[in-house]
Amino acid sequence: MRPFAENSPKDGHERPPMYDRFLNRVAQTSAAPMGLEVLRAEGCWIEDLEHRRYLDLISGISVANLGHGRSEVVEAVREQAGLFMHTMVYGEHVQTPQVRLAERLTDVLGKGFETVYFVNSGSEAIEAALKTAKRFTGRYEIASFKKSYHGSTHAALSAMHEPYFCDAFAPLVPGFKALNFNRFEDLDAIDERCAAVLVEPIQAEAGCIEAAEGFLAEIRERCDRVGALLIFDEIQTGFGRSGALFAFQAEGVVPDLIVLAKALGAGMPLGAVSGRAELFHALRDRPVLGHITTFGGHPVCCAGALAGLELLIAGSWVAQVQDKGKRFRDRLISHPMICGISGRGLMLALHLKSADSAPEFAQKAREKGLLTDWFLHTTGALRIAPPLSINTEEIDLACGILEEILV
Ligand code: PMP
Repeated sequence: MRPFAENSPKDGHERPPMYDRFLNRVAQTSAAPMGLEVLRAEGCWIEDLEHRRYLDLISGISVANLGHGRSEVVEAVREQAGLFMHTMVYGEHVQTPQVRLAERLTDVLGKGFETVYFVNSGSEAIEAALKTAKRFTGRYEIASFKKSYHGSTHAALSAMHEPYFCDAFAPLVPGFKALNFNRFEDLDAIDERCAAVLVEPIQAEAGCIEAAEGFLAEIRERCDRVGALLIFDEIQTGFGRSGALFAFQAEGVVPDLIVLAKALGAGMPLGAVSGRAELFHALRDRPVLGHITTFGGHPVCCAGALAGLELLIAGSWVAQVQDKGKRFRDRLISHPMICGISGRGLMLALHLKSADSAPEFAQKAREKGLLTDWFLHTTGALRIAPPLSINTEEIDLACGILEEILV
């Protein structure tokens, strides 16, 4: 491990030209990109072009649950790429890695999950779930929650209801109803016109806000009563991050459809929706090819994902997540700049006493060799979402840096 003193840029240090080339030629999503120039990544560490090492508390936003560069995943990707990468679109060919992954995934998801529809990303998986619900129920209204995040496509944005992010792209998709998360009385809006309720079991980008006791069960009951489908977005909570393999399993509330992405691909781009087989039959006809994708369930991605899933299940990764999260909490909760810690497992938000200060502290942390960031809906909290492989020494190191910069 490299001492962090070496992380401070030297006097007169000039950025290598790659940063300027990035700014000139790659479309930017913000005015001030972090611009970390990545050379390689391994475990919980990312190394930049100048060989400075950073401890990663972001994991590509809950993607690298297994840590960066796991040899088992790299090997599976390499092997599949050597056999075939892509042969035919729209699910016409039988691709062994896809079938194997679907079998293993439905195994671990358990009862109620028989079929998997593969796509390339989280947003696309949300689109697929919403279209499946509309087609299956013959209804078009969708109830979803304020301060959620489900992706950047039109329907996923429509489910978010946040004027700052949505208004610039109006008109969005009609039929979306806005409910307040954890406000039980808002659930009265779930009625016979609803095709589905879309919800994150833990609202990630609101700052890791957990569902109140009984809230998800109440949504389940309302959906059953009116014949609407319950869709859980487990794109961030999935694959061990919350301390259960999937958050719904700890809640004891089984959705009709679960939406997965991020850590699903173990570093490769992959999204999926899973549920009962009859739900997906609705997409087969009238129209035929009702929802199709050229690259969805790419065999190389599925091979990597399967290797990642086997690794996650075989080890004690998930069993250790709560203890690791507790180590962060116990050490940081009494810090004078922190007014609360929300979330579960290794999906935590450090809420700061000074509003909107997270970007400035994230920058200070980065100068000390620690990568953290803030949330889409709050800049008053810092993200703690390291690879689940983080060890106690690394947790203590991260806490030490956070204590040092939070002044
Ligand atoms: N849902 C949640 C909870 C997410 O965090 C994200 C991505 N941050 C998405 C959906 C969209 O996923 P993608 O960026 O792969 O489209």
